[in-house]
Amino acid sequence: MQSLLVLGSTGSIGTQTLELVGESPGELRVSGLAARSSSEKLLEQCRRFHPRWVALEDEAAAERIAPQLPVGTHLHRGPRALEAIAAECEYDIAVHGVVGAAGLPASVRVLERGKTLALANKESLVMAGALLMPLAQRHGARIVPVDSEHSAIFQCLRGERIERVRRVILTASGGPFRKATAAELERATPEAALKHPNWSMGPRISIGSATLMNKALEVIELQHLFGLERERIEVVIHPQSIVHSLVEFVDGSVIAQMGPPDMRLPIHYALHHPDRASAPRTGFDLELFRRLEFEAPDHARFPALELGYRCVDLGQDSGAVLNAADEVAVEAFLKRRIGFTDIARINAAVLERRAGRCASVADLVEADASARRDAREEIESRSAAKEAS
Ligand code: MG
Repeated sequence: MQSLLVLGSTGSIGTQTLELVGESPGELRVSGLAARSSSEKLLEQCRRFHPRWVALEDEAAAERIAPQLPVGTHLHRGPRALEAIAAECEYDIAVHGVVGAAGLPASVRVLERGKTLALANKESLVMAGALLMPLAQRHGARIVPVDSEHSAIFQCLRGERIERVRRVILTASGGPFRKATAAELERATPEAALKHPNWSMGPRISIGSATLMNKALEVIELQHLFGLERERIEVVIHPQSIVHSLVEFVDGSVIAQMGPPDMRLPIHYALHHPDRASAPRTGFDLELFRRLEFEAPDHARFPALELGYRCVDLGQDSGAVLNAADEVAVEAFLKRRIGFTDIARINAAVLERRAGRCASVADLVEADASARRDAREEIESRSAAKEAS
C-alpha cells in the first residue's frame, strides 16, 4: 500500500488523483491533503479520505475548518503550510498539482526527504530544474512527470539511453486560436482564450495553451527532466491531442505514446510507476484515432514559444523570470487590463531585464519576486499608453 500526499488537492490534478485513489482501494491511501483556500472542498475530501495531515494556506479558512477535523489531525496553516506538510507528513509519493511558482518550496522538501515526486507543478522545474535534478539525485528521490507530454516521453524512454535520442518532439494542441489571424489574436477575449478544444484545465494553463506559453515552459521542463539540449527539443502542433509526444532515436525509429486526452492517464502512471497497473480507461478508439494531424508551429503568430528556447540558452534564473512574468501577465489579461498579444510582449520584455543569478532556491525566489515587479511596471506603462491613445 502506497501512501499519498496530495498538494493542491482541490484543484484539477488533485481531484482527479483522489478519483483514482477511490478506484484503487487497498492500493493507495491518502495520508495528507493540502490546498490553498478551498476549505469546504478540502473538508469534504477529509471526510472521505481521512488524512492524518492537512494543510491550508488561507489562515481564516483554516480557522473555520479546524474544529471540524477529527481529533489528532495535524493541521498546517498559513503561507508556508504546503512546505510544512511536505516536510512532516508520512508519505511515499507526493502528487504535486499546485499551479505556479508557489509550488517550488514544497517540491524542495519532498526531494530532500528522498520521496517520489509525481510532478504536475511544472513551474518547479521551469524555475529551478538546475537545482532540483541534482537535489533529487543526492537524496535518492525520484521525479515522475505528470505533465502529459513529459509522461509520454518518460514512457517512451523506458529502457533507452538518452544519448541514443536524436530528438524529442513535444506535441501542442495549438489551443483555441490555432487558426486565428494576427488581427484576431489582437482582439482575443479571456472567454475565447479559456475555451480549450481538448483539455479541461485551470485558467493559467488554459491561457498558456492559447499563447503557447505553456509549451514554452514545457520546453524548459523537458530540458531539465531529461538533460536535453536545445538542438534535441522540437515542438509540433497536433490538434487532436492523442499523440502526447514522440521520441526519435539515432536509428530513425520514432516511438510515440498515445491515448485520449485525459489527465487521469499520466496521473495513474505516476502513482503506480514503475509498475503499470490496470485502470478502466479507454485506450485505442477508432473514431478518436481516425485522424492524427501534425503541423509546424507558427512562431510569428505565437512568439511566446521562442521564449522557452531563449531560456534554454540563457539558463540561470531565466526560467523563474519567464514564469513569474507570465503569471502576472495572464492575471492582467484575465482582468482585461492588457490584450492577449501583450502577454508574450510583456514576458519577452521582462526576460530581457533579468539579473542572471542562480546559486540557490532563495536566489530564484528573489528572481521571481523582482520579475513580478518588472511585469507590473510593464503592464502599467502599457495600460497607460492604451488610455492615452
Ligand atoms: Mg502539458
